Amino acid sequence: MALLDGKLVSSQLKGNIAKEAGEFLQKEGRKPHLAALLIGNDPASEVYVSSKIRSCEEVGFQSTLVRFEDSIKEETVLELLKGWNQDPSIDGILVQVPLPNHISEETITNAIFPSKDVDGFHPANLGRMIKNLPTFISATPLGILKLLEAYKIPTEGKNCVVLGRSHNVGSPTSILMSRPSYPGNATVTLCHSKTQNLESIIKDADILIVALGRPEFVHGSWIKSGAVVIDVGINRISDPGKKSGTRLVGDVHFPSVEPIASYISPVPGGVGLMTIIGLLENTLLAAKKEIYS
Ligand code: NAP
Repeated sequence: MALLDGKLVSSQLKGNIAKEAGEFLQKEGRKPHLAALLIGNDPASEVYVSSKIRSCEEVGFQSTLVRFEDSIKEETVLELLKGWNQDPSIDGILVQVPLPNHISEETITNAIFPSKDVDGFHPANLGRMIKNLPTFISATPLGILKLLEAYKIPTEGKNCVVLGRSHNVGSPTSILMSRPSYPGNATVTLCHSKTQNLESIIKDADILIVALGRPEFVHGSWIKSGAVVIDVGINRISDPGKKSGTRLVGDVHFPSVEPIASYISPVPGGVGLMTIIGLLENTLLAAKKEIYS
């Protein structure tokens, strides 16, 4: 078994992004600029956003972080986004999810200009992805593609099983893996909570991509020998052996899957770090106006 090492790959790709950010600064006299909004105090969201902001600094991007209390009104959020949409110094906009229940994720997503939607959640960008047009691919699926690419994992003609059909991860990943390009050209099966015979479908997978939000759900006995396993899940479980009392695990039971897979992405240190690369690459594309001129 070999690791799909998100730490290694993301640090190499950050080097390339930093170089391009430097060239952009020389040419345009400013840095690529990501504006991020964090609503509430969800501890996981805090960690994700601070890591995104830190990564912006590492590669020489400008970043702006605005924080609102949980009780903020939707109109106030929309006002802020309107300002960011119209501000030519801001290239990319990120609103960290999940949002409080009284704020509609749909309304917020639709309020961001597609040309600044570096998370790739806007219907215009999802539609462009389906039509195989230049677009902002959602950051996590883009990170998964980059990881496959970095390890030159063959995908053409392979059976790819994606577990989970969320709009942010599972569904776009399934579309991308079946696109007529590399990584892609796979025969894709998309599974969800109503799927029957899940274990036998998984057993056929040459490439298994798991995005369920169920700690250590997929076990080694379900895996085809030599399969490539990408674990998107990030779950905090209790662990009395740790000082903090908790630890992070994926949706895959790493100890039993690792001896059977040919490649596996660890949690932490896998897709999470690659998601940040997806976001940085999209922000650079937005700054360079390579998708929408
Ligand atoms: P989500 O929106 O909750 O979707 C979960 C999907 O899993 C749903 O499609 C659900 O099916 C399916 N599912 C749940 N239980 C199942 C079961 N027993 N059998 C088959 N399918 C089942 O989750 P998400 O946003 O995609 O996130 C998934 C995981 O990835 C979470 O742990 C999240 O923290 C993590 N994540 C990581 C990153 C990263 O950067 N690494 C980014 C985003 C998310 P139904 O549609 O039928 O309900």
